[in-house]
Amino acid sequence: MLKRLQDKIAVVTGAGQGIGAAIAKRLASEGAKLVLVDINEECLANISGELDTEVLCVGADISKKSQVFAMIEQAKDTFGTVDILVNNAGIIRDGFLAKLSEDDWDKVLEVNLKGPFLCCQAVFDTMKAQNSGKIVNIVSRSWLGNIGQTNYSASKGGLVSLTRTLALELARFQINVNAVAPGLIETPMTRSMPTEARERLLRMQPTGKMGSVDDIAAAVAFLSSHDATFINGQILHVDGGKSCGLLSL
Ligand code: NAP
Repeated sequence: MLKRLQDKIAVVTGAGQGIGAAIAKRLASEGAKLVLVDINEECLANISGELDTEVLCVGADISKKSQVFAMIEQAKDTFGTVDILVNNAGIIRDGFLAKLSEDDWDKVLEVNLKGPFLCCQAVFDTMKAQNSGKIVNIVSRSWLGNIGQTNYSASKGGLVSLTRTLALELARFQINVNAVAPGLIETPMTRSMPTEARERLLRMQPTGKMGSVDDIAAAVAFLSSHDATFINGQILHVDGGKSCGLLSL
């Protein structure tokens, strides 16, 4: 039986570790060929070695237009097309308003919002020409607002608006644009949190536990597939129910 993403060409940004690496593994297991992109090219070698599919690794900074367009050209030279784009790469530079530097504001907006915009722009002609495409943007539950994350929340809120607007704009070319909003996920970042902060976050979690990178990867695989053809402009919260509201204990 053919796999759900058999021979689809998928570009995954920030694929070197964490959620991006899990997405790469899941898409590969469903039959996709992969273009793994990361600013840290070295970590891509480890991931690509674990994948049982054809892989192209590209070191690129998604906030730089020339690097993004060159990366997509390289993908097309290697595989002929791009069917799926997963805008996963993202960064945090947290701080309360009074202490948030202009540089930390700019950097987060450049990577988390401008980066996906550039990647969408770079794949558009190809997806339009083939009259099909799936774009999945990784946002965050923080787009709803989160203390100490003015820059990050604004970048993810912007990415939600970009998702909804491109869903409307690109639907006539049979290109779906959706987003996945992870909640609290077990990653090196959350594992390195002080115990007290980690426990406080877990108390606010309806499930009482963190999600895994595989939970996010499963949602991305679904939205990248034919099964999601009539789903467009949606923000799929994968957060154990946290976005439903406050938890009263
Ligand atoms: P991560 O472990 O930090 O991995 C992100 C990867 O992207 C890293 O390899 C990073 O390289 C790379 N990257 C950073 N800037 C880049 C750039 N300009 N161009 C290309 N690659 C770049 O992050 P994660 O925790 O897996 O998060 C992945 C996505 O999920 C992000 O968009 C994040 O906002 C979102 N998210 C995560 C969580 C969570 O709990 N972890 C929750 C909600 C949303 P370097 O390591 O060298 O910087």
